[in-house]
Amino acid sequence: MSKISKVTHWIDGALYQSASDRFGDVHESATGEKCAEVVMATTEDVDVAVKSAHAAFPAWSRTPVLRRARVMFRLKELIERDKDEIAALITKEHGKVLHDAAGSVQRGLEVVEFACGIPHLIRGDYSNQVGSGVDTYSMRQALGVCVGITPFNFPAMVPLWMFPLAIACGNTFILKASEKDPSCSLKWAELLKEAGLPDGVFNVIQGDKVAVNALLNDERVAAVSFVGSTPVAQHVYSTAAANGKRVQALGGAKNHLVIMPDADMEQASDALLGAAYGSAGERCMAISAAVTVGDAAEPLLAKLLPKIAKLKVGPGTNNDNDMGPLITAEHRDKVRSYIDLGEQEGAKLLVDGRSHDIVTSPGYFLGPTLFDHVTSDMRVYREEIFGPVLTLTRTKTFDEAVQLINDHEFGNGTAIFTRDGDSAREFAAEIQVGMVGVNVPIPVPLAFHSFGGWKRSIFGDMAIYGMEGVRFYTRLKTVTSRWPTGIRAGADFSMPVM
Ligand code: NAD
Repeated sequence: MSKISKVTHWIDGALYQSASDRFGDVHESATGEKCAEVVMATTEDVDVAVKSAHAAFPAWSRTPVLRRARVMFRLKELIERDKDEIAALITKEHGKVLHDAAGSVQRGLEVVEFACGIPHLIRGDYSNQVGSGVDTYSMRQALGVCVGITPFNFPAMVPLWMFPLAIACGNTFILKASEKDPSCSLKWAELLKEAGLPDGVFNVIQGDKVAVNALLNDERVAAVSFVGSTPVAQHVYSTAAANGKRVQALGGAKNHLVIMPDADMEQASDALLGAAYGSAGERCMAISAAVTVGDAAEPLLAKLLPKIAKLKVGPGTNNDNDMGPLITAEHRDKVRSYIDLGEQEGAKLLVDGRSHDIVTSPGYFLGPTLFDHVTSDMRVYREEIFGPVLTLTRTKTFDEAVQLINDHEFGNGTAIFTRDGDSAREFAAEIQVGMVGVNVPIPVPLAFHSFGGWKRSIFGDMAIYGMEGVRFYTRLKTVTSRWPTGIRAGADFSMPVM
């Protein structure tokens, strides 16, 4: 029997066989071997999925909120039951190390736990007697068919940022996962069915821009959540918004970590190591730019360089490894070309991932890379590389470091390492970035807060999950009601006048 699995759509509670003749190959990134074939949706496939989600909406949105919450409670148990299997699937297709994959499932699961509280989260407000005999109350109602378009780097966590809340709020949902590691998407469909979700409430479409564009242009789609690169986020945002849809589109990043001269260099170097090279740098909250202030660079490098030398790079199936491969050969080559570029631009290459022993392995590996003396005009500083490449920029003062970050086009995450409360407080207040860490390198907010960057790291007004997520997936209705004198006063035989 072939080891190559066929990944297809999930529509109306079952696998859906498409007539499409376009397929994509999925590779095990640690070996380079083809492990799956994913169908690329046609516009007809998208139409069938939207029809299903559209038809399921009236009944699901009227399902009592407690029953919708119970589906989330069951989903939580099922994800807990299958978490090792899900983590193994992520490691197989994406490549990240098992313990890291398991951590990402846990962070996604926390959004399901948050969604279990939907009866409380979605409650409206009530004001009694706002006028004589007049009361006002508000409620949040579901939007309709919601779409989620997700990137390759978190095949579990990012879809879980979206569909649990969308569904708990009473919407139906279509997931268009990354075609590079699509198998998790079907796992969500199976678990939701087992959790008792009615058919048609959750559908999965596999594919590429053909599927995305069909979804963005379908008038039955009410809202779009997108997470991916900035150029595609911008396209998704402008198309969906022009078509009158609600849209949140989260894009790329260049996250800075500022090291003040008073920082604990042991802690700062540990933090940099994990944040720059964990998941091979393929995290939207990865730290890709270290910024030292004053004379912090030398003591930091004295701690950091030996730690980089000891990093264990290898297949993600070995939990002893710190860093796995990149997602595809093409992406590995792109990251490698940035290392070439950094040298040409005059940055000082302190650690060269191109010459790491691991690169001779058959998978899509690259070793950790560190550039020193990187300046703000270099492309290796300005552009998102999305690989295990860390740049170090030396600044003289705190103000110079803050200005450097504020001038960057991206504003997803950032962090400062210091022992000084005043520097930390000023940094949090002045920095033009959506998520800020103080002695915390990757400040991803927990599920009961919300996730979102600033500047060209997000298009649209609302962040994802948490209360922002509840607001994104619902719209507000406010009712003002007055009950004129009725049966209590008995019949009235005179002409009614105001
Ligand atoms: P990508 O933009 O290439 O793909 C994201 C999704 O868009 C995929 O489902 C893909 O099929 C689809 N897509 C790709 N090209 C398209 C096109 N031309 N038209 C319509 N749809 C298209 O992103 P990726 O490479 O999968 O993921 C990496 C990127 O995602 C990085 O830039 C990373 O920073 C970003 N990211 C951001 C966040 C965040 O929260 N801000 C989180 C994770 C990843």
